[in-house]
Amino acid sequence: MSDLASLEKRALTGLNACPDEAGLRDWHTQYFGKQGEVLLAIKKVGEVPPAERRTYGQEANRIKELLTTAYDSALARQKEKALNQDLESAALDVTLPGRPVRRGRLHVATQDMRRITSIFADMGFQVYRSREIEDDLTNFELLNMPPHHPARDMWDTFHTTTPGVLLRTHTSPGQIHVMRQRCPKPIRVILPGMCYRYEAITTRSEIMFQQIEGLAVGDNVSMTDLKGTIIAFARRLFGKDRQVRIRSSYFPFTEPSIEVDMDCIVCSGKGCGLCKGTGWLEIMGAGMVLPIVLKNGGYDPDRFSGFAFGMGIQRISMLMYGIDDIRYFWANDLRFLEQF
Ligand SMILES: [Zn+2]
Repeated sequence: MSDLASLEKRALTGLNACPDEAGLRDWHTQYFGKQGEVLLAIKKVGEVPPAERRTYGQEANRIKELLTTAYDSALARQKEKALNQDLESAALDVTLPGRPVRRGRLHVATQDMRRITSIFADMGFQVYRSREIEDDLTNFELLNMPPHHPARDMWDTFHTTTPGVLLRTHTSPGQIHVMRQRCPKPIRVILPGMCYRYEAITTRSEIMFQQIEGLAVGDNVSMTDLKGTIIAFARRLFGKDRQVRIRSSYFPFTEPSIEVDMDCIVCSGKGCGLCKGTGWLEIMGAGMVLPIVLKNGGYDPDRFSGFAFGMGIQRISMLMYGIDDIRYFWANDLRFLEQF
């Protein structure tokens, strides 16, 4: 029994004296290894006189338990100490490069919309936002397209389940909204926004696209003003030497109606792939607001006149950057979007 008492004392003293984890492991081998002192002491129970055997066995087991617990906690303490030392000695290296943060950006359509908007803002045009869900009356009828008017075929329309309610096919219904709100004051606004058409999706047409439309109403607003505005716009956006050509066209809500071409930004009129050899690029439709439309907006067509123009933002972007497929714009492909 006195051997056991001295073993306990020796083992605990030795454990407390261990300087590090390696020391602890050595200690463990010394007492708990195959030839460890604790195991040998337990084996000795057979040599003890039978009368003391029970007491000896209990004491030996108590010491084994005690030393095992003491060793486990000493090892845990030692590991924590080593970790803290490690953290303290390995100070933060401020010279390491930071982890890159993926930076977002504005969509190319938004960038170009803002660019175009600011050009017209410099010419005194305000931005007028109008709803994307329209009624048949404003999208068609008040723009001189009564039901069954053949011109409606120009716009394949998404109708909602509510009769007479549709997704606007162009930004032109905004003309009616702004005229009714501002009448009889003069108007100079642009109407930007998304439009929707029930069309087959191809490289040249999408079911959703952005338009920007302009409207000027006032005294003596003339075709000359329209032409000057368009030329100023084309030169600001595409370069100061741009030439503009006007062709007659047809829209139900303007008379006369025109189609505006600009000399090709690639070949300057000589003919190339972009302009399909013609030397010209179509950039917008325009015209003088029809008297009936002015009247529907609340203006007296005998006193007031106005011009309107409209263009597709995606079409303009495609010209500017040489994009050959309109489907890229809403496909959410980062390889495309990251180029702008
Ligand atoms: Zn060309």
